[in-house]
Amino acid sequence: MRRSCKVAVIGAGVSGLVAARELLREGHEVVVFEKSGRVGGTWAYDPRSDSDPVGLDPARRVVHGSLYASLRTNLPRPLMGFSDYPLLGRSFGDARAFPGHEEMLALLEAFAGDAGVPAAVRARTEAARVAPRLRGGGGGAGAGEEEWVVEWRRREEEDGEVVEEGAEEFDAVVVCNGHHTEPRVPRIPGIERWPGKQIHSHNYRIPEPFRDQIVVIIGMGSSAQDISKEISHVAKEIHLASRSTDVIIGKLDGHDNIWQHSMVSCVHEDGVVDFDDGSSLCADVIFYCTGYKYHFPFLELDEINIDDSRVGPLYKHIFPPKLAPWLSFVGLPYKAIIFLMIELQCKWIARILSNKLALPSETDMMASVLEHYRRMEEAGMPKHHTHSLLSNQADYLNWLSCEVGMPPVEEWRFRMYDRAIMRIHSRDDKCRDNWDADPSI
Ligand SMILES: Cc1cc2nc3c(=O)[nH]c(=O)nc-3n(C[C@H](O)[C@H](O)[C@H](O)COP(=O)(O)OP(=O)(O)OC[C@H]3O[C@@H](n4cnc5c(N)ncnc54)[C@H](O)[C@@H]3O)c2cc1C
Repeated sequence: MRRSCKVAVIGAGVSGLVAARELLREGHEVVVFEKSGRVGGTWAYDPRSDSDPVGLDPARRVVHGSLYASLRTNLPRPLMGFSDYPLLGRSFGDARAFPGHEEMLALLEAFAGDAGVPAAVRARTEAARVAPRLRGGGGGAGAGEEEWVVEWRRREEEDGEVVEEGAEEFDAVVVCNGHHTEPRVPRIPGIERWPGKQIHSHNYRIPEPFRDQIVVIIGMGSSAQDISKEISHVAKEIHLASRSTDVIIGKLDGHDNIWQHSMVSCVHEDGVVDFDDGSSLCADVIFYCTGYKYHFPFLELDEINIDDSRVGPLYKHIFPPKLAPWLSFVGLPYKAIIFLMIELQCKWIARILSNKLALPSETDMMASVLEHYRRMEEAGMPKHHTHSLLSNQADYLNWLSCEVGMPPVEEWRFRMYDRAIMRIHSRDDKCRDNWDADPSI
């Protein structure tokens, strides 16, 4: 029988906006809690940064966003929209193949507006605590089971005083709070006494502070690639350090001031940085492009834990078997066509909540999760790759497509994704502008 639920969505970034749209389409009642003053999440550029540039101080002022001023997408337009609301063919003032962040925010605002989502959004209202409790009788969805209580607090201004707080009951909660806010920082021997500056990419906005500096950048992902290219135009020297085994140690071809190293082994009181390859140098800045931690400070649940970047157990990266379908997570996997993945995840959640689709039993979901872990172990994959779709995004997206009755994802999208990521990881400063739009390549 068709079911209509009252659903709390935590966050109004891409995940929350798409979740709200799909839930509304399925006839659910939706409240979106958004702690900032606007929708768009990551794509709402914030020139402020955390009060602690490394992001380790638990008492620091935390800014949600991690975008820097010049950021452009790392995927081209055809991969940055939704199946029935593409970015390709729309333009909000920046028609480039890889647009700047302003274009993405404009897309999301238009998408949300056209879907009627803003009416469901409670801005500057943070979900402070989300927990299940036994329903006190009565009918409705999930009767006899648990209901979810969202304790919230509203501010007049983003960083201002709390002006109102309350608690509200829901049948289900969809967690869409993003995972690019809590820096992951490796522990470097000697760092407590190292005298230089340190920063995590979460807090990078503009290159100017790095003028004439000798900067060691740790990491090999898209942020390390992009930021090192940008900073290299003002910095004195850039030294890239990573655990990757396939980098050529030494000066980078075609660049006057960029060197590649293996990982930093330790640092010293006199400012010297040692690398595993035996080289060392005196640096001004250590710049961590080392990724982020999953973080759900409003959830205190025994059924979910985070262990070395594994959020689990989660069936298909979405449902904790014990609490399904009343609690779900959107947007956790990475190394994928994120917008499309989020859309498919949200359609699936919305239809499961409306009883159009069914989940396997708790035992079967748990068995599937354990099988995923077992296969990872067999393949020698570390735990922190649990939510990486590097080797199986087509399987995952096509599985979701099939569940929600959509045709398989067109092959050209995967080819375009691979090609874009390869380009971004090249040292070509103009990799985004020299893009050939032919999707068959
Ligand atoms: C530097 C950078 C570059 C990126 N580039 C690309 C790219 O080119 N292409 C791509 O597809 N993806 C890119 N991404 C990935 C990007 O994160 C996703 O595209 C997308 O923004 C994820 O959306 P989200 O809604 O899951 O999370 P977010 O965008 O982080 O949104 C989460 C929202 O939840 C709110 N929130 C958090 N906690 C609470 C709470 N307790 N109560 C209420 N509200 C809360 C936040 O304020 C925020 O609005 C990039 C990410 C980063 C960091």
